[in-house]
Amino acid sequence: MKRRTFIQNASLSGIGVVTAGAAIGCNNETKTLEKENKPSTPKASLPLVVATWDVKNATAKAWETLQQGGSVLDAIEQGCRVEEANAEGQSVGIGGLPDRDGNVTLDACIMSPEGGYGAVVYLQNIKHPISVARKVMEETPHVLMAGEGAKQFAISMGFPTENLLTEASIKAWEAWKVTSQYEPIINIENHDTIGMLAIDKDGTISGGCTTSGLAYKMAGRVGDSPIIGSGLFIDNEVGGATATGMGEEVLKTVGSFLIVELMRQGKSPQEACEEAINRIVTKNKNFQKIQVGYVAVNKAGEVGYYGIHKGFSVTKFQNGENVNLPSDFYLKSS
Ligand code: ASP
Repeated sequence: MKRRTFIQNASLSGIGVVTAGAAIGCNNETKTLEKENKPSTPKASLPLVVATWDVKNATAKAWETLQQGGSVLDAIEQGCRVEEANAEGQSVGIGGLPDRDGNVTLDACIMSPEGGYGAVVYLQNIKHPISVARKVMEETPHVLMAGEGAKQFAISMGFPTENLLTEASIKAWEAWKVTSQYEPIINIENHDTIGMLAIDKDGTISGGCTTSGLAYKMAGRVGDSPIIGSGLFIDNEVGGATATGMGEEVLKTVGSFLIVELMRQGKSPQEACEEAINRIVTKNKNFQKIQVGYVAVNKAGEVGYYGIHKGFSVTKFQNGENVNLPSDFYLKSS
């Protein structure tokens, strides 16, 4: 199932998760998922790359970068760039679905093992926001740059400008305009971020997050993905976490920071992801209409992941194997 298809299917009044058929399917699937979701043994093999959704080309690139002697930061940047350059992916980089006015605006952030952070928000006409985020971290005294200033900075760093609105995205936007829902009907909007975490063979951790945000968002809207502690958080002493889904909910619960702090207190990555989803579910009575997915790693290379709805998945490259794994989820029945 394509990432966007899932969001649409699961969200159309929740049918993907509440029909009797789906409930039966859940039971069977849950057994499999329970097996698959058991955290890896504490002596998990390193290096390791894990990312939200089915992005095997991206995790493969990150893995290859590590194998060739690149740093974890290089691996994250190179891995995220694969999805940003994929014009067919309508949630990241070129081809990302536009806002309500037809503008493609990109958000991204990156964190280094040393605790460095760089991010861009509302960036237009630059295909690789993850690389601009890294430049913000490494080349400026700042951590977060927005809009036209971020674009001018990118140009000054040698990034080319280009039109990111593809024919396919224009068509989708035109179709959306027929009904032009200006109320944020979040459960029929499209969204998916690539969040990626990498650990090298010595246990050094880095992460990145890149997105075009919610499709047909209000002009100026920024989500969780570029915001430290929400869409991404890395503490090289503990682990890292990243998020996908309804950014407003992740922001309100500072989800990735929460997960890392829970791991610091002794929770496994799986337990911490589940607690962060529980936090959203507890605080928002409309949680049935929202999808959020988290993935986390700890210093030992244990991995956890969890979503609100069925359909979230992660891609994990470990022990030379690059696999897409379905995530367990909160909403088994309602
Ligand atoms: N988290 C992103 C945002 O809210 C979108 C997504 O991952 O679906 O901008």
